[in-house]
Amino acid sequence: MPGRLQHKVAIITGAGSGIGLESSLLFAQEGAHVVLADINLPAAESAAALIQARFPTVKAIVVKADVGKEADVEALVAKAVQGFGRLDIMFNNAGIMHPNDSTALDTDEKVWDLTMQVNLKGVWWGCKHAVLAMRQNPADAEKGLLGGGGGGSVINTASFVAIMGAATPQLAYTASKGAVLAMTRELAMVHAREGIRFNSLCPGPLKTPLLMDFLNTPEKRDRRLVHLPMGRFGEAVELAKAALFLASDESSYMTGTDFKVDGGLTSCYTTAL
Ligand code: NAD
Repeated sequence: MPGRLQHKVAIITGAGSGIGLESSLLFAQEGAHVVLADINLPAAESAAALIQARFPTVKAIVVKADVGKEADVEALVAKAVQGFGRLDIMFNNAGIMHPNDSTALDTDEKVWDLTMQVNLKGVWWGCKHAVLAMRQNPADAEKGLLGGGGGGSVINTASFVAIMGAATPQLAYTASKGAVLAMTRELAMVHAREGIRFNSLCPGPLKTPLLMDFLNTPEKRDRRLVHLPMGRFGEAVELAKAALFLASDESSYMTGTDFKVDGGLTSCYTTAL
């Protein structure tokens, strides 16, 4: 059985942990050659070792990259194209939630700037260099796309806080993710006729280090759990499955969407028991 991403080449940023790690494993399982990017090189290397052990027929390249630096993102995309000759999937997933991110009154400008650098500019640069590479993909005459390229799929990780306000303030993070949604929609429109699809992935609260390091007491976790219709945090692999769908041709008529995978959180008015 051919995999759902057979013969495709995917870059995943933040591949060393959480959603990025699970997505890297799943994309490889479905036949994609993967380029694993992370600021934490040992974490990305461990992910690659897992992939090569489990799925020896696909190739995994590891790249140390800080998505908050355009030169790193440009070099990352160049390595994917040099290594595999094309780029089909760009998963701009790396993101940070700074421990000192707070209210409008208490958030330091340095925290604001760092958050925007990684969460917003990092995604912008990922999109920009992905477009340039995807335009070089060999054209599929049947698709008749403008621009002469073969298209591709770009997935940008936003968050449920881009859609609804959170009572626990993390203003820079929330603003950065709202901007990712807005930016992704516009990119989707601008590049639609080139066959380059852009979709946002909006996770609900997940059991990954990013959130669990922050919710480090049972009281803090319980305060969130009462608002979750399913009564549990999501798992990174549940987001990876959604990313796989957006990455694959199964979502070929989807672009510009805010794809929510949040256990119903943003659709429900829940009350404490
Ligand atoms: P995680 O902390 O488990 O993993 C993030 C990975 O990104 C890490 O391996 C880290 O080293 C890497 N990274 C951090 N800064 C980087 C940079 N500048 N350049 C390259 N790599 C960098 O996080 P996660 O929970 O898997 O989150 C992934 C994405 O999902 C993030 O964009 C996050 O904002 C978003 N998200 C997470 C949740 C949640 O509850 N965990 C909810 C909504 C959205």
